[in-house]
Amino acid sequence: MAIKTGKEYVESLRKRRIKVYLFGEKVENPVDHPIIRPSINSVAVTYDVANDPNYEDLATATSHLTGEKINRFTHIHQSTQDLVKKVKLLRLLGQKTGICFQRCVGMDSLNALSIATFEMDQKLGTEYHKRFTDYLKYVQENDLMCCGAMTDPKGDRSLRPSQQADPDLYLRIVEQRDDGIVVRGSKIHQTGAVNSHEIIVMPTRTMRKEDEDYGVSFAIPSDTEGLIYIYGRQSCDLRKLEDAEIDLGNARYGGQEAMIIFDDVFVPWERVFMAGEHEFAWPIVNEFSAYHRQSYGGCKAGVGDVLIGAAATIAEYNGVATASHIRDKIVEMNHLNETIYACGIACSAEGYKTPSGTYLVNILLSNICKQNVTRFPYEIVRLAEDIAGGLLVTLPSEKDLKNPEIGKYMNKYLKGQKEIPTESRLRMLRLIENISMGLGAIGYQIESMHGAGSPQAQRIMIEREVNIEWKKKLAKFLAGIEKEE
Ligand code: SF4
Ligand code: FE
Repeated sequence: MAIKTGKEYVESLRKRRIKVYLFGEKVENPVDHPIIRPSINSVAVTYDVANDPNYEDLATATSHLTGEKINRFTHIHQSTQDLVKKVKLLRLLGQKTGICFQRCVGMDSLNALSIATFEMDQKLGTEYHKRFTDYLKYVQENDLMCCGAMTDPKGDRSLRPSQQADPDLYLRIVEQRDDGIVVRGSKIHQTGAVNSHEIIVMPTRTMRKEDEDYGVSFAIPSDTEGLIYIYGRQSCDLRKLEDAEIDLGNARYGGQEAMIIFDDVFVPWERVFMAGEHEFAWPIVNEFSAYHRQSYGGCKAGVGDVLIGAAATIAEYNGVATASHIRDKIVEMNHLNETIYACGIACSAEGYKTPSGTYLVNILLSNICKQNVTRFPYEIVRLAEDIAGGLLVTLPSEKDLKNPEIGKYMNKYLKGQKEIPTESRLRMLRLIENISMGLGAIGYQIESMHGAGSPQAQRIMIEREVNIEWKKKLAKFLAGIEKEE
């Protein structure tokens, strides 16, 4: 099948019988729900760019399985060039949407599983890689949106999965049958879950022998019996119910996170990629994290571009664009943003071929990338808020602007430069508010902190990946303490 268009993707979502709850009520039609739809529109852009000849090289790839042209979001990286193109594609999409477009987690899951299932088969004589490859072909042929589900609720963090008072706090196998497995548990913070065709489940941490029921990976359609989605709240989400446009800030796109409940869900064996091989839980986590930390070098730089553009525009509207301290703040924002991107490119360019044939990023550099992402967007936001001024949080509503009695006062007193309509100034302030503290902050700040692993997770990896003994040797040689380098 050809690559889907954004429109075809949206229509394909309507065929699912998916059980979604939002504000305590079941949502009968998630596709057209005003709170959910902007996040679907963001995913649709990942389909539309693949049909745009201007972006063909970035947004499409050639399947190594079939030789067909496919959407890059379903591709398995075959070279360092593929890794670099992925980062460039994600930056482009961040620029186009100004928010999380949700489709990377599935791509990163597919790539991680292509490596881990191969290694499992090599070591254990299992047949997971063959199953995975059949599944991948299905995903590529149907151009599916996949949700990568890794994060369990985790309960008491000091206890292992099998030690928890409630054994379901990590997703687990509750029954093994001739035809498949039955699983129970939950995955939380699931980006784009409600907008996906498929849910790909992976373990969230290292597992020991006693945790083997928790060492499980599989893929199921998002409307499988027993799956329940509980939609995550976002700051200012009710504005989407106000028939607002200016007050949304980002008038076109949104992000999405949800909790998924697996209420004794059956998974047929052909969709199971790990069932009890606890020693392979860590490789899956490690490879997925490395890819997803690389992803942030693209998407966050793209959203950063939008915020920098908004800050520079509001400076113009306010009449301060030429002030030296404003120009310097814009330079600083760009410096931080390009550093994030540079790390995304660096870990890709220094990627390598694994025995499975799949290319993996340089793990140290992808962790450096994500560690920077846990900090720099906060500083970029601080500078944008500094430039924007206090009106960012004191601005009256769009309805006041449109009110025939008082709108004229807002138009008169909230005007900046005389050539610029007041409404444009207000729109730009709302966009900055959206990315820095409103609906869009989900994809820029808190996700920069915790998405793809909280800061400490990267610091553990940095310590592990750096050869500190070798660095000590370099120093000792130059200091004349040791004779040989
Ligand atoms: Fe993709 Fe970035 Fe969203 Fe993760 S946070 S799914 S990398 S856009
Ligand atoms: Fe994320």
